[in-house]
Amino acid sequence: MSTPRSAGTALIDAMLHAVWLVDSRDLCIVAANIAADVLMGAEPGDLIGRDMLELAATPEDLCFWNEVAAGLAETIESETWVRRTDGTAAPVTRRVSCLAAQAGAAEGRALYVVAMHDRSAERRAERELEAVAADLQATLESTADGILVTDLVGHIRSFNQRFAQLWSVPADLLMRRDDDAVLGCMRRGVPDPAGYMRRLAALDEPDALPATDVLTLASGQVLERVTMPQRSRGEVIGRVTSFRDITERVHASQRIETLSHNDALTGLPNRRCLADRIEQSLATARRDGTPFALLHLDLDRFKPINDTLGQALGDRVLVDVAERIKGCVREIDTVARLGSDEFVVLAQRSDAAGAEATARRVLEALQASFTQGGMSFTVTASIGIALYPEHGGSLDELLSCADTAMHEAKGAGRGAFRLHQPRSALGDSGLRARMLLDHSMRQALAQQRFRLNYQPQVDMRTGQVLGAEALIRWRDPERGEVAPGQFIPVAEESGFIVAIGHWVLRQAVTQAALWRARGLSLVMSVNVSALQFQQPGFVEGVAAVLREAQLPPALLELELTESILVQDVNDALLRLQALAALGVRLAIDDFGTGYSSLSYLKRFPIGRLKIDRSFVAGLPADESDAALVNAIIHMGRALRLETVAEGVETEAQRQFLRQAGCEQFQGFLFAPALAVPDFEALLARSAAGQRVVQLHQR
Ligand code: C2E
Ligand code: MG
Ligand code: MG
Repeated sequence: MSTPRSAGTALIDAMLHAVWLVDSRDLCIVAANIAADVLMGAEPGDLIGRDMLELAATPEDLCFWNEVAAGLAETIESETWVRRTDGTAAPVTRRVSCLAAQAGAAEGRALYVVAMHDRSAERRAERELEAVAADLQATLESTADGILVTDLVGHIRSFNQRFAQLWSVPADLLMRRDDDAVLGCMRRGVPDPAGYMRRLAALDEPDALPATDVLTLASGQVLERVTMPQRSRGEVIGRVTSFRDITERVHASQRIETLSHNDALTGLPNRRCLADRIEQSLATARRDGTPFALLHLDLDRFKPINDTLGQALGDRVLVDVAERIKGCVREIDTVARLGSDEFVVLAQRSDAAGAEATARRVLEALQASFTQGGMSFTVTASIGIALYPEHGGSLDELLSCADTAMHEAKGAGRGAFRLHQPRSALGDSGLRARMLLDHSMRQALAQQRFRLNYQPQVDMRTGQVLGAEALIRWRDPERGEVAPGQFIPVAEESGFIVAIGHWVLRQAVTQAALWRARGLSLVMSVNVSALQFQQPGFVEGVAAVLREAQLPPALLELELTESILVQDVNDALLRLQALAALGVRLAIDDFGTGYSSLSYLKRFPIGRLKIDRSFVAGLPADESDAALVNAIIHMGRALRLETVAEGVETEAQRQFLRQAGCEQFQGFLFAPALAVPDFEALLARSAAGQRVVQLHQR
């Protein structure tokens, strides 16, 4: 027969949960089922007689069983821990309830059923889930992308810090889960909220496929948005949207795009972009016959400007030039910079007349003086023009024609434009002609075909001849008399000017020494080209020539162009000081046409200014020439520099200059450049005539 106890044991053994029966009087276990043994890690029967106060693993349990002992409590249900026999704690959900006091049981004895559900596996799964979630969050936070997870109706399920940062979601909003406020932030972040919301809606269709688009925020930030459906067990449960900040990338590619099509300095289209536009114009022109023109512009003598001002200020001059050119063309035209000081204007719908008008406007725009680094100076340019269809049918042909024409403009004296002359009309390309001329020059020097003429330099008041300027002359057997204005630029370009210059110097110094030996102490003025001046050993060469001829250095004057003085200022200064130390006189030729700056006049040991004949030509009527010449003479006087006027052809000019205070002049009024016998004859005549001048002045 089974006892109540064994009946109870059989009953609880049938239960899935761990169950103890506890006697209320001593709080000891009277029965435990198999599940309880398993939970506690105990052998069958081991638990019988164990005290609840001993087994209680938490204060809550201890308290409960004490209350049971005092008859104050009967039930409890909560999650708690039990201490297993090996000392470890196991999480359980446990319910304790009191069975009614049993019949036949001793007075006051009651049985308590303690039922426990082992939660170890659940806890493990929860912990694993937490770990996974933490990993996931860490992953989310560690990505450089902002991530937003929404459910099917658009409620926000989660987002990472980067998302909040990209969309400027305030910190307090992150704490509150306020969808509307977060969406409000997103709406405010885009320049076109309504449009953005429409795009959002379209992309966010639950079954929409993964989609990518690019958003530009009001802040200028550019975000790439990738959105894809989030699935769970094959069903779409929401969307995951990631935002990547691609601002840098977009800007970089824009920069590259701009750089590859624009000149970095001036922002003008570059050679490649120009080529594209010319090809477009060619395509249009071939279709409907619209003519167009290319103007190839090259600054004259830009190098000295760059060398004087330094690269940075030189660059600003180029930017200024670019602006001026742009101001001379229409919207539809293109101004491009090919590099260094070369520009091209693509003049749409232009024939010869139109292109020439543009060229004139550009040259005029460049006439106003440039100011940079405290210096004012003039920049001139030479322009070559090629026309479609007259001069070529392709990009290369047209560019090459414009380039040739530009070089012709340079050869002809710079500061002007030239329309391309087709080969048949020219007979020879400009380049070939220059090569041939250079060859003839070399032969001329070897065969002593160069000669020097001397133009008297005359005292403005007394009419006395004080000096002479040596001017080179060349008669070629085939070409006839070739003007220095024609061959000197070619010699400068080829470098042959160095040899010519040296010959001129020796010849002129020798002549001066001859005259001196005959009692004529004339100052000999010799023109010196920039390239010649820059040659290593130039100063020593001058000293050697003077020594050889035994000419006192004070009887030699070197005429330098303003460009020499602004090229490599420090080097120029050293050379000029060395020449001045030799006792050689220094003059600036063609003063006023170059890079007029007071600063170099003060720094350099210059003795004279030669007023360019282009300013003298307009005297006395032309007001601006008159004002300019007056200013030069005044400035000369302030700086203790003598002034010599060039190209004086009329008595009126001489009068004006004399009254303005100019000391000397040379010009056809007195005499052109003369061969030695003519010069000497004139000198003999003027020695007599001088008295007449003096009489006049009295
Ligand atoms: P430049 O040094 O300014 O020389 C003055 C030019 O003005 C000379 O021209 C001269 O013949 C011209 N001329 C003189 N008086 C008058 C006048 O009353 N009216 C006009 N319209 N012209 C006048 P040229 O001889 O043709 O020389 C031209 C330029 O060639 C010179 O200008 C000079 O820059 C250069 N040149 C001449 N000889 C030499 C030389 O030996 N070496 C170098 N480097 N250049 C030279
Ligand atoms: Mg001269
Ligand atoms: Mg001159």
